[in-house]
Amino acid sequence: MSSISVWMPPGAKSIIRKLKMHGFDAYIVGGCVRDGLLHLTPHDWDICTNARPVEVLKCFSENRVIETGLKHGTVTIVQDDGQYEVTTFRIDGTYSDNRHPDKVTFTSELNEDLSRRDFTMNAMAYGPDGLVDPFGGVNDLQDGVIRCVGNPDDRFAEDALRILRAMRFASTYGFHIADDTANAIHRNKDRLNNIAAERIQSELCKMLVGRGVLNVLLEFSDVMAAIIPELGPCIGFDQNNKYHEYTVYDHIAHTVANYRGPDISIKMALLLHDIGKPMCYTEDHNGGHFHGHAVPGREIAETVMNRLRFDNKTKSEVLELVLYHDAVIEPKAKVVKRWLNKVGENRFEQLLKIRMADILAHAKGTQQSRIDRCMALESILVDVLQEEQCFSMKDLAIGGAEVMMLGIPQGKLVGETLNYVLDMVINGDIPNEAGAEIDAAKKYLAEQRHG
Ligand code: ATP
Ligand code: MG
Repeated sequence: MSSISVWMPPGAKSIIRKLKMHGFDAYIVGGCVRDGLLHLTPHDWDICTNARPVEVLKCFSENRVIETGLKHGTVTIVQDDGQYEVTTFRIDGTYSDNRHPDKVTFTSELNEDLSRRDFTMNAMAYGPDGLVDPFGGVNDLQDGVIRCVGNPDDRFAEDALRILRAMRFASTYGFHIADDTANAIHRNKDRLNNIAAERIQSELCKMLVGRGVLNVLLEFSDVMAAIIPELGPCIGFDQNNKYHEYTVYDHIAHTVANYRGPDISIKMALLLHDIGKPMCYTEDHNGGHFHGHAVPGREIAETVMNRLRFDNKTKSEVLELVLYHDAVIEPKAKVVKRWLNKVGENRFEQLLKIRMADILAHAKGTQQSRIDRCMALESILVDVLQEEQCFSMKDLAIGGAEVMMLGIPQGKLVGETLNYVLDMVINGDIPNEAGAEIDAAKKYLAEQRHG
């Protein structure tokens, strides 16, 4: 026990108090203790107790409870300030599939429950008598070290997801993975083949948005290639031209790190943006080229996004961003408006963020003109949006009804006419006003009739 104190919300306090009143031990445990010690706000508060699930149910018979995972010992108790999972101390049985314990056994020993947890910083409990920290979690937290509880090879053999959890925590907190744990990660990476794609995706996404992502991607490129084999050929691939001082993979890692926002589509697009490069490599007297790499890149990205079971919205955003990541976009209002019409405001904004992250991972001497161009695009975008300039059919002063009043039936020609009118407006050939647009529509229809 120690004198360190951790804040806990009233709901958790009252659950622990009640279990104590009934003669049981109870603690907050795991991630919430870790985050509390780091002065971060945990997103969930887990409670552990020596009370068996039926006994927990009995203690809280007057509360709203949800029988979440009775078999695994978990009961959820609803309090005024949120829901709390209360789990009976347990020992996980053997893991014959690297994934799920074959069975769980309840125990009355807190230390046994803590010893099944993955990392020392996640294997602490905190209760009315203070902190319980049998594996040196506080020290490791202070040193910024992620270390397996027990033998790392055994722990990764039990559940290979822990490999990605270690990398995720290293990224989130900017921590270092202890040498023996890191070595075991490299040795056991292929066990990730046995892990469900959804679990991989979830850890990967958290890893990508962490502040330590660059070091993690660079140190564990082999693990990244274990979960995304298509990254394999990028590792160590020399780009052999003056724009790049990094290999394809290291460039990817830097771009991922250069974008510091929370948008997962941008992070995934950056991770995959150059994945088509190795297969497009050609050389001439100027060095290496990767002409057209975004097209196969998009195809490969689709396979990856499907395999990792991303939702359709994220997938389609990422594919579009990979496809257009290096498209030439002239910094002119009419060009920007055409892109806005084609991909929409949100995607265009994402595209600019991708470009900036990409440019900043190019060779230092070659960045400035590209940065200037990207900033010019940004300022044009701001103007177009602020001035509510017309860039899509719905912004036009006229619509389908007005075109049909010119005597043509509903059908394809209406859309084509409006597109023509939109093009004229975007080009600045006519103002966004009904009169001018109807004249333009008439002219287009006449050309169709006679041409
Ligand atoms: P987060 O901040 O994402 O919630 P967390 O560490 O709390 O991180 P949870 O999935 O909520 O992660 O798990 C709660 C606790 O359960 C962990 O702190 C750890 O003690 C234990 N745990 C979770 N997953 C594993 C695992 N795969 N192997 C061993 N212990 C685990
Ligand atoms: Mg948690």
